[in-house]
Amino acid sequence: MDSNNTPCSEFMDLDLDTSASNINGSKQEKQLSAPQRRYYSFCRRKSFAAFVASKADGGESWCCCGETFKEHAAIHKHVAKTHDSEVKQLTQATYKHLLSQLEEDPEAQQQNQHDVKPVDISAWIPDISHISKEELQSGSGTVLLYYCYCLVEDPHIICEWQKALCEALHLTGKVRVATEGINGTVGGSNVATSLYINAMCSHPVFKMDREDFKTSDGGAECFTGLRVGVYKEIVPMGVNPDVISYKLAGVHLEPDEFHKQVEALLAKGDLCNDTVLLDCRNFYESKIGQFTQCLAPNIRKFSYFPDYVDQNLELFREKKVLMYCTGGIRCERGSAYLCSKNVCKEVYQLKGGIHKYLERFPEGFYRGKLFVFDERYTISSNQDVISDCRYCGLPWDHYELCSTQFCCQLVLSCPSCRQNGHTACCPTCQTKGQTSTDPRHKEECECTDGRPRIPQDV
Ligand SMILES: [Zn+2]
Ligand SMILES: [Zn+2]
Ligand SMILES: [Zn+2]
Ligand SMILES: [Zn+2]
Repeated sequence: MDSNNTPCSEFMDLDLDTSASNINGSKQEKQLSAPQRRYYSFCRRKSFAAFVASKADGGESWCCCGETFKEHAAIHKHVAKTHDSEVKQLTQATYKHLLSQLEEDPEAQQQNQHDVKPVDISAWIPDISHISKEELQSGSGTVLLYYCYCLVEDPHIICEWQKALCEALHLTGKVRVATEGINGTVGGSNVATSLYINAMCSHPVFKMDREDFKTSDGGAECFTGLRVGVYKEIVPMGVNPDVISYKLAGVHLEPDEFHKQVEALLAKGDLCNDTVLLDCRNFYESKIGQFTQCLAPNIRKFSYFPDYVDQNLELFREKKVLMYCTGGIRCERGSAYLCSKNVCKEVYQLKGGIHKYLERFPEGFYRGKLFVFDERYTISSNQDVISDCRYCGLPWDHYELCSTQFCCQLVLSCPSCRQNGHTACCPTCQTKGQTSTDPRHKEECECTDGRPRIPQDV
């Protein structure tokens, strides 16, 4: 989905299915989906390493159960043999912690369990009886990204329909429904995603057509299960849609027109001081890919964007603002918020976001990778690498999760630095990873300390 809003982690939308949060052992573990198992085994590796590290005696050896181990292999063998249940416990705690980090702000989520009137949703589920399960599930796959702002009278019915539709088509992903519209990203086979588009386009509430869907290579394996829910906002900006409505958004520019505008801006170079090219995504997204010469706020979630605007109003005074984001949805309400301040000369937004721009201009003014909120992390259209390894400074843009227990930050560490043991988000976190297994010590490191909540760019 084209945003995220889990409160306390840097990388907020790591896609975990929370229904698996009460796993209790290997039996349940086997019931996890493939991506869930990958997260679980990631947590086990972290936990095992943390347990071994907690037995280090400061020198080159480890002390456990009254015995001293000189060899790495020996302590590993001992822990594996003797402390399996403790490691398992730690793994489960880590896994649960990771899940809780990824839960959305409960206040933002409206009650899902209110009385849903029995409404027949089957009319809006396509007849797939002539299609084999094989056809639905196999073959090459697609990930769809879409949104539609419109009045949804009863989001709970749409929510039920979406669940049934996605399940019938074996789709995974995330769908947010609100009275202001729908926002989703789902993955599955080409056949299934195409049927999904048809179903969406023929539903009377959403006046959508195929062009409104952004597609990329992927499939059901890109998500850990299916999450469909009713929320206040379809993209979490943290501002009541009744106060700042998408209806107040800036003017949409097609990729061609946006391209021309950026071209003109770049041609003027430093002389161009009447236009701001504004990336309204999070810092870790713009870090690995952005439009040349954009302004990229150092915010870690979209709900900080309004504060960013408030505290940097002078940047936008009397300016023409060209805004963009991944798929366009954040710009809808982000530009509406900016417009509501009445300081800009004009506000424009890139229609269809970077996604549609790259389809039209794969080698255009957007350089680097496009961050996506699923297991792929990024999709690319050009070969540029615009970010560096955190440790050696060489070009690198492949994110991985910090290796330290309870830390959910993303790290850019190149293969050779990883080989040298730099697997955490920063040296502080790396050290902590070797000494602490306490969940309370989560995410207090150079990465979080060094970043102001709302940056001042004026
Ligand atoms: Zn022991
Ligand atoms: Zn490196
Ligand atoms: Zn870390
Ligand atoms: Zn750190």
